[in-house]
Amino acid sequence: MAIQTLADIGEFGFIDRIAARAHTEEGVIKGVGDDAAVLDCGGKDYLLYTTDMLIEGVHFLRTIMAPQEIGRKALACSISDIAAMGGIPTYAVVSTGAPYNTSRSFLEDIGQGFNDLAKEYHVSLVGGDMTRSNRLIINVALLGKVKKDQVIYRAGAKKGDCIFVTGSLGNSFKNRKHACFTPRVNEAQYLLEHARPNAMIDVSDGLAGDLGHILEQSGFGAVIRTTDIPLAKDASLDQALHDGEDFELLFTVPAQKADALRRCKKYRFFEIGTICSKPGMFLVDEKGRKRQIEPKGFEHF
Ligand SMILES: [Mg+2]
Repeated sequence: MAIQTLADIGEFGFIDRIAARAHTEEGVIKGVGDDAAVLDCGGKDYLLYTTDMLIEGVHFLRTIMAPQEIGRKALACSISDIAAMGGIPTYAVVSTGAPYNTSRSFLEDIGQGFNDLAKEYHVSLVGGDMTRSNRLIINVALLGKVKKDQVIYRAGAKKGDCIFVTGSLGNSFKNRKHACFTPRVNEAQYLLEHARPNAMIDVSDGLAGDLGHILEQSGFGAVIRTTDIPLAKDASLDQALHDGEDFELLFTVPAQKADALRRCKKYRFFEIGTICSKPGMFLVDEKGRKRQIEPKGFEHF
């Protein structure tokens, strides 16, 4: 039998295997399998913990991204994950691998982009590591906090919930949104106060893939109205469903709370569909035709 590789089992297949064998001790409220880990270290808040790695040639190219943008994005991806749990980001450590011949000013500019965003979101940089590598690698580990009764998981969507998204989707690379998106911390805090979601995730791998995570973990299906999906500039429906790196929040709220979001003036929340009891993801087009789609987003392997 041929040796199985990452290409055979895929990113999520590999994560599932690691999760099944992970050693955990007391205090782990939610381990592998959500946007961030949820930890009980005493006190009135839970600690949130997430990490993201950016690798040159996989997640960014120097030719199309300024170094400030690379540094900013390295932190922004993790902030987005903390936001998706209903949390506030707090402390970060950064590990970097870089080729010997990387210029000092280039690295300093990456640091500048990181620091500017850190300041904006009140994140303290408190440590890190640096090593030589063949290509530029930046790994951010970020802590956050959330009140114990306010943490929002991917699991938790209920039949009849309205499905919302915080912004437009698709074509994020051409539109350059992948390089300068706004992590939706403020929107998430607004939601906690005005229409607490039953389930939430950030859209990093495309609507279909990330909604798929909510449905799988909640044990329900969804009907999405294609005409209500907010398409980004020049984005096709297909791109909105399967592209990556929009970093909007995707969440579900009970129907009776949805009105508060439809009327909201401070932020725009786009209502795109409903949670249903029948498993699967269904699209309804402008003529009322229904078709089932695969919950498949962008995969890194
Ligand atoms: Mg995420």
